[in-house]
Amino acid sequence: MIRISQVASAVQPSATLAAAAKAKQLQAAGKTVFDFSVGEPDFATPEHICAAAVEAMRKGQTRYTIASGTAELRSTIAGWYQKTYGIRYTPEQVLISNGAKHSLHNALFATVGPGDEVIIPTPYWVSYSDLVQMTGARYVLVPTTAASGFKMTPAQLKSAITPRSRLLMLNSPSNPTGAVYTRAELEALADVVLASDLSVLSDEIYEKLTFGDAKATCFATLRPGLAERTLTISGASKTYAMTGWRIGWTLGPAPVIKAMANVQSQQTSCPCSVSQAAARAALEGDQVCVETMRKEFEARRDLVCSRLRALPGVQCPIPEGAFYAFFDVSSSFGKTLMGHKVTDSMSFCLALLETLQVNLVPGSAFGGEGFVRLSYATSRETIQAGLERLERFLRG
Ligand code: PMP
Ligand code: GLU
Repeated sequence: MIRISQVASAVQPSATLAAAAKAKQLQAAGKTVFDFSVGEPDFATPEHICAAAVEAMRKGQTRYTIASGTAELRSTIAGWYQKTYGIRYTPEQVLISNGAKHSLHNALFATVGPGDEVIIPTPYWVSYSDLVQMTGARYVLVPTTAASGFKMTPAQLKSAITPRSRLLMLNSPSNPTGAVYTRAELEALADVVLASDLSVLSDEIYEKLTFGDAKATCFATLRPGLAERTLTISGASKTYAMTGWRIGWTLGPAPVIKAMANVQSQQTSCPCSVSQAAARAALEGDQVCVETMRKEFEARRDLVCSRLRALPGVQCPIPEGAFYAFFDVSSSFGKTLMGHKVTDSMSFCLALLETLQVNLVPGSAFGGEGFVRLSYATSRETIQAGLERLERFLRG
């Protein structure tokens, strides 16, 4: 028998991917599923980006690239940050990885290990805790509530810091809550960081998906000296509907980027050459597609929130970014709905899927028991039909 290592035994499968797989299984068995589980844009990758990939293949860009990504793409990304946020990075301060999830893994692997603590405000994206755990470091959760807009306060951050604290993980706009920290709120957190020895891993993957007056902020730009302590992570998946292409990036101090690149060179050699060419076309090409998709997400956000708020017992804070609604269904706990006893977010989601084929992700997967996550990266028709069913379910 082959023994499973201690590290691998402790890893849980991604709850969001597991929920999506469940829907696919039911669909394959011929069932209609109203799937709100996985967070990935339902749009096709824009045509000009696909065309650039085809051209790259035709030109023979089908070999390994430099481990840290092509010089062209790294320089495009550095230029994009300068243009978008006014912050200067050299191409040596940029690492391209196989999706932002891989960037997060490399960043954690290169900076923390046994004996270290990583501070994560909750609710948090499912993979953060497992990725930290894989390094041998310990994660320290800081709970936030709907009443505080799911945002960690400077006082909370200050009291979570211990002599072992190494890293703070931030994610604004947030998955799963859709919360977007204001610039002033982030500045206040930055001041706590600068008064301590903490470094920051700022996951800004939803930076182009904000609604109304909300605006994403690049954390590294906020105070002098902060860029030296911050690893900024983002990628092509959400902004350009490129989840399957697997391109993410990290920007930060050159020695850390070099350490991450060393790890990556032993691990995956390099990110996919063709996808890198496509990502370059995405960043350098016409940005109309980004705004078109953003507007559609905003319209769906409005539709989802207005319907959710009309449901009995449901509390739904308005998400200001990303494409998730994270809402409180705890008033149904202890009740029997459509013949199923509901005791927590997991039993709520299982019963809803089994009875009416509506697939949500339990809040417990994100450290937010009492809540469920609905990804509205799906058609308005699915949203309308799914929410009608959710209403039926809640009425018992
Ligand atoms: N960070 C957050 C907060 C996410 O929601 C996702 C989506 N899976 C990622 C990182 C990783 O995205 P990808 O690996 O597709 O670039
Ligand atoms: N970010 C997406 C989600 O949360 C993708 C799934 C994943 O990579 O776990 O649904």
